[in-house]
Amino acid sequence: MITAQEKALRTYFGYEGFRPGQQEVIEKVITSTNTLAVMPTGGGKSICYQIPGLTLDGTAIIISPLISLMKDQVDSLLALGIAATFINSSLTNAEHDQRMTDIAAGRYKFVYVAPERFESTAFVSLIKSLTIALVAFDEAHCISQWGHDFRPSYRSIVPNLKRLTNIPVVMALTATATEAVITDIQELLHIDNDHVINTGFARDNLAFHIVKGKDRATYIRAFLEEHPDESGIIYTATRKQADALYEQLSKRGIRVAKYHAGMTELDRKRAQAAFIHDEMPVMIATNAFGMGIDKSNVRYVIHYAMPMNIESYYQEAGRAGRDGEASDCILLFSPQDIQLQKFLIEQSLMDEQAKQQEYRKLQAMVNYCHTQGCLSTFILDYFNDTHSQPHCGRCSNCVEKLEKEDITEEAQMILSCVKRMGERFGVSMTAKVLKGSKDKKVQEFNLHKISTYGLLSAYTEKDLTERIHFLVAEQLLATEEGKFPTLKLNQNSVDVLKGIRTVEMYTAPIPTGEEDDYYKDLFESLRALRKEIADEKNVPPYVLFSDATLKELSRYFPATREDMLEIKGVGEKKYDQYGEAFLHVIQSWRAENPEARTRVKISGSTPAPKPRNQQEDGPSHLASYKLFQSGKSIKDIAVIRDMKPMTIENHLFKAFQDGYPIAWNIFFNEEEEATILAAREEITDPKLKPLKEALPDSYDYTKIRAVLAKNGVLEM
Ligand code: ADP
Ligand code: MG
Ligand code: ZN
Repeated sequence: MITAQEKALRTYFGYEGFRPGQQEVIEKVITSTNTLAVMPTGGGKSICYQIPGLTLDGTAIIISPLISLMKDQVDSLLALGIAATFINSSLTNAEHDQRMTDIAAGRYKFVYVAPERFESTAFVSLIKSLTIALVAFDEAHCISQWGHDFRPSYRSIVPNLKRLTNIPVVMALTATATEAVITDIQELLHIDNDHVINTGFARDNLAFHIVKGKDRATYIRAFLEEHPDESGIIYTATRKQADALYEQLSKRGIRVAKYHAGMTELDRKRAQAAFIHDEMPVMIATNAFGMGIDKSNVRYVIHYAMPMNIESYYQEAGRAGRDGEASDCILLFSPQDIQLQKFLIEQSLMDEQAKQQEYRKLQAMVNYCHTQGCLSTFILDYFNDTHSQPHCGRCSNCVEKLEKEDITEEAQMILSCVKRMGERFGVSMTAKVLKGSKDKKVQEFNLHKISTYGLLSAYTEKDLTERIHFLVAEQLLATEEGKFPTLKLNQNSVDVLKGIRTVEMYTAPIPTGEEDDYYKDLFESLRALRKEIADEKNVPPYVLFSDATLKELSRYFPATREDMLEIKGVGEKKYDQYGEAFLHVIQSWRAENPEARTRVKISGSTPAPKPRNQQEDGPSHLASYKLFQSGKSIKDIAVIRDMKPMTIENHLFKAFQDGYPIAWNIFFNEEEEATILAAREEITDPKLKPLKEALPDSYDYTKIRAVLAKNGVLEM
């Protein structure tokens, strides 16, 4: 038995099951219980008010803090074929009046408004005349002055709202993490403890990394090379850093956009639009960028320097991976970042008490950069999240077990070389001298005659450069800024030279991304089509289909409407609007690639798809198998793991291949097995489809595939 809510989830949104917390929130709201939903970014809060809004009578009013957020949400609903609109200050008078008329006529299921609207008598009387399904406060932390984004207008509408008699239910949604804010929201909106659904803040698709001792620009270039075309944000601590990095990267022909408060509004708008519309893959920005950005396919967020506190870090890093796909959050740490942040606090206009508070938060941020434990757990503990687990299995501390190498001797050689060179040269010249390079410049400056020339000739120049950068990053060697930064010794260098201090270097490999289990070229073609349609409709591409959906399409290449509706993120309404165009691209691609097979193969050489970083508890298919053995149904496992049931089946079959036992009688009985094997002998083409057609209707694909898997002849 599926409920009306599940049906709406499938028909409109194309999702098989609810994410944690969604169903509970929806059930409370449709029974007119004021509810607060606390879920992480990307946790799927929108659906919590959209499904009640769709199933209840009347119009749902959504209060939203930012114009860009409203537009995005409305575009997404329109793309789903749901009547929605917004009212805010960006409209012309004529547009405004038209929309008010249409709202009054009940033409919209969803109306997004800025809180200021409730100060308008015209709007309030319109509300009074309507049948209201619900009122939802999105980004509800804006209500609270303890939140990081307090908006007085959010708070002041509450009394106005309470005077209205036709509001059946009020709900609030936020990803905020602090107890004070949650209590504040509860008190203001009269929400009982029993009606707070808090799923915790864990983001299971994010892998956190700390990178130390690397030249930041070099690391970023290497990362971008490894991740071309992927969308990402690089946060810098200052405008100056943003400008410099932007210069460096664009000079090298890398397509980057830039955003900070020192730019004109027009330039900022353009940069933001280029990023949102997938025209510029990389955004370099200060923390001025991001509020109101719902772009779902941000694959990584790199912090060029350590931010001020964990609250900001988690919020900024959390802009990665809203679509639930694996994403990386990388913090490039260098000890001088601490000085910079201290300086920023010192310079700020806060009173002494507030400054002390900021210093404490900064200390926690510094501790994060130095912890040996799981990074995700550290953050969740910081927010007192009781749902946290001891290990995430994805972060750099869980996965990489940084390799340490004692380089004290090399460090001493490098430092003494810098000294012999008179502290007048930069990194590359020093590396050349240590290598014993025949470079003309070395000769020009007579550096081939000093005693450290060729001292480390066994190393490559690149290795030496990396080691020198490491010493700089660890403040074991200083640089004098200038057009050509020169290397200088500092007190730490002296300690190393004297042998008082040892030097350990650790290496941090660049996250390489998941092993592709979908056809990249098909994905690119689908992406191009998505961009084309999105431009035509003037909406961001991810509003049509998420990257996750396009990847599914390039993994399973559906051939019919029915197949396509099986894909996560394709609902009936969306299919009706765009489905055929996408099917078309898939068909022509298949015609050109007749040998292509659905990637999740059971037998044969292609390995099962791996998550971006292998989970601690082993390969993905064994994780599914474990859940299966613990008594969970395939459907439940699919919900838990946010995968398609077919993928889970494949996991189980793969586990069987690896030698794990399966209770086959869950799938079929002896008689059915015999029938299927006999039918397989009969048909000439032993493919799945003809086999299915040769069998009675009661034999579904799962049954057939299970029999084939057991007998070692399943191919897909
Ligand atoms: P939030 O507001 O909590 O940050 P959104 O509501 O924007 O998150 O949802 C994030 C993404 O997750 C969207 O792409 C949304 O379509 C997707 N999503 C939401 N619910 C589900 C679900 N039950 N199954 C699969 N995807 C979902
Ligand atoms: Mg949201
Ligand atoms: Zn971890």
